[in-house]
Amino acid sequence: VLQLVGIKKIFGDFAAVDGIDVDIREGEFVTIVGPSGSGKTTLLRMLAGMEGPTHGYITLRGELINDMPADKRPTCLVFQSLALFPHKTVGENIEFPLKVRKVPAAERKARALELMRMLRLQEHYYGKNVMRCSGGEKQRVALARAFAYDPDVLFFDEPLSALDYKLKKALEKELKDLHRESGKTFVYITHSLEEAMVMSDRVGVMNRGKMVQIGTPEEIYTRPANRFVAEFFGEVN
Ligand code: ATP
Repeated sequence: VLQLVGIKKIFGDFAAVDGIDVDIREGEFVTIVGPSGSGKTTLLRMLAGMEGPTHGYITLRGELINDMPADKRPTCLVFQSLALFPHKTVGENIEFPLKVRKVPAAERKARALELMRMLRLQEHYYGKNVMRCSGGEKQRVALARAFAYDPDVLFFDEPLSALDYKLKKALEKELKDLHRESGKTFVYITHSLEEAMVMSDRVGVMNRGKMVQIGTPEEIYTRPANRFVAEFFGEVN
């Protein structure tokens, strides 16, 4: 569904992303891992169409991402810093994308409640100010809002990194279930190899702007392409 061809992003004389060719399949859950500064966020921002590559191109279903108007792109990005509207309720936050599309109020509410059920947010949270929610609940609201856009592809930039271990584990499982139920394509950046191994269909390992290996968790673990991958995994496990 997403095709990256010869992608580079150069800042001055530094290549943050240095020649990446990858095809991401429809409905796939792809995780990107790599050391700090390896170019993961830069790559994701290009995939989401927020920045153009300096070389190469990215297509989504055959169409160039940067030629699509931002509000027409069938993609959505979930940040670590959720970017929720602080003075609004849970319901208003989730309904925002629907409001922009001028969906009638009753229909918006029905969809928001449906998404809340899917993300295990109790119905009475609908009218609650989002700032009075816990970290995990805010995370669920942000996910519900992302789903309200009804994108074909969801991009995640370390969405669980600020959460405590137990909550992280619970949300990892929920994200995996959501992925399966929704049939959507997920591209997910994380520092946590454990997260990558548990959740994804394929893991891409980045180092110094290059995708040094991409494969199933099992392939990467049992047949690392080079010493860097082996050591990267060795350090953490
Ligand atoms: P982390 O895991 O720490 O978030 P990352 O793998 O996501 O790291 P990026 O944020 O993509 O790494 O950054 C890759 C490199 O590109 C870094 O060395 C960073 O300093 C550099 N970089 C990113 N954005 C810019 C920019 N706008 N101008 C100059 N350099 C940049």
